[in-house]
Amino acid sequence: TKAYLGAMEKARSLNAYVLETPDKALAMARASDERIAKGEIGPLEGIPLGVKDLFCTKGTRTTACSKILANFVPTYESTVTTNLWRDGAVMLGKLNNDEFAMGSSNETSCFPGAINPWRRKGSNVSGGAGGVEGTYLVPGGSSGGSSSAVAAHLCAGATATDTGGSIRQPAAFTGTVGIKPTYGRVSRWGVVAFASSLDQAGPIARTVLDTAMLLRSFAGADAKDTTCVDLPVPDYAKAVGKSVKGMTIGIPREYRVDGMPPEIEKLWEEGAAILKDAGAKIVEISLPHTKYALPAYYIVAPAEASSNLARYDGVRYGLRVPGKDITDLYEKTRAAGFGKEVKRRIMIGTYVLSAGYYDAYYVRAQKLRTLIKKDFEDAYAQGVDAILTPATPSAAFGIGEKGSGDPVEMYLNDVFTVTVNMAGLPGIAVPAGLDPQGLPLGLQLIGRAFDEETLFSVASVIE
Ligand code: GLN
Repeated sequence: TKAYLGAMEKARSLNAYVLETPDKALAMARASDERIAKGEIGPLEGIPLGVKDLFCTKGTRTTACSKILANFVPTYESTVTTNLWRDGAVMLGKLNNDEFAMGSSNETSCFPGAINPWRRKGSNVSGGAGGVEGTYLVPGGSSGGSSSAVAAHLCAGATATDTGGSIRQPAAFTGTVGIKPTYGRVSRWGVVAFASSLDQAGPIARTVLDTAMLLRSFAGADAKDTTCVDLPVPDYAKAVGKSVKGMTIGIPREYRVDGMPPEIEKLWEEGAAILKDAGAKIVEISLPHTKYALPAYYIVAPAEASSNLARYDGVRYGLRVPGKDITDLYEKTRAAGFGKEVKRRIMIGTYVLSAGYYDAYYVRAQKLRTLIKKDFEDAYAQGVDAILTPATPSAAFGIGEKGSGDPVEMYLNDVFTVTVNMAGLPGIAVPAGLDPQGLPLGLQLIGRAFDEETLFSVASVIE
């Protein structure tokens, strides 16, 4: 714990943490030492972790990286973090993210955005974070603080959430491993809601084994979240390193999108070749409704967000800007408290849910969602055990390089990840190679519902 706290202090320029909690960390570490002395050793005993600032932590400021929650101190602890502390883990602090988890680059955070510890070569930018030369890159988002901290050794693992790719894309951008579990595998209680039918929490860590060990503590039924399923939680670590001989891995042809960079195509082929060499059967499959996933996601997610974010009214939580009457107070608080991207999502969401447009947008998007889910069900019914795709359409991009003119440019980042949330399936991103600039690239494996074990086995062959 002390070593990590020291590393955090030295790497503050990465903006990975928005709050360091050294006193809490040392107290938790001491309590852990006492348990160890008594022979009471939990599965994560003494492991120092970072917590995405979207998870409510009792008595510790939780902001979702929004000005509207700038002074919010929860009176309760999320189920995920409760489970982690129960199993012996230690909290180092709260990690940066895009505001309310809306974004792919950590640039929508109300704090200075987290920075990727990797640098792109060939630039005149020098010094800065870690004193390493090169162009500063985004760590991905929304869980950019989590990915940056894990990649820079500022925690042994981190909590993260994924609504459309926010665990897998930042993991891919930083050479780390991230798993979005099946919808319902992990409790959402105490996690600040973005789009409730898509949100799922999961870990980012340095290896497949670490993520497997963490997920076991994350997962499990919870009476406080009725969408959380009461299924036994397997010992995921046992799946790591298991042979993939005889497994069938699907390669969906619709993911071969126009303009796919050659290095991504090469990575994908190499991944398939590794699995083939390990004894898996590689088959081409079709997921015909893939092209509708991104537009449908950008209707469903904002619709749910507009409803979830209605609670930030200046009365119940966080920021309050006084007004001449209650409506004025709501308006002034929300105008001052929400950032540009969050306002955009609320406006889109309110529009697609409004009478007259509801059927044309929201209902159609929900119908597409059913078709996207059915595509996967058909593939699995044909005997496919897992599906292999690239995790992202590119390596990490530079800070300020994308989306400033056209937000859709940023949304396109999620092209390979949103399908998985729309279908409620588990997906893992695993580092699989480097681009010509020497930056990490990740592959994604998509599994059957509640079959995270197969993903851990297959990912450990690629890792
Ligand atoms: N980038 C996507 C979005 O902005 C996904 C974010 C997420 O998974 N939380 O909606």
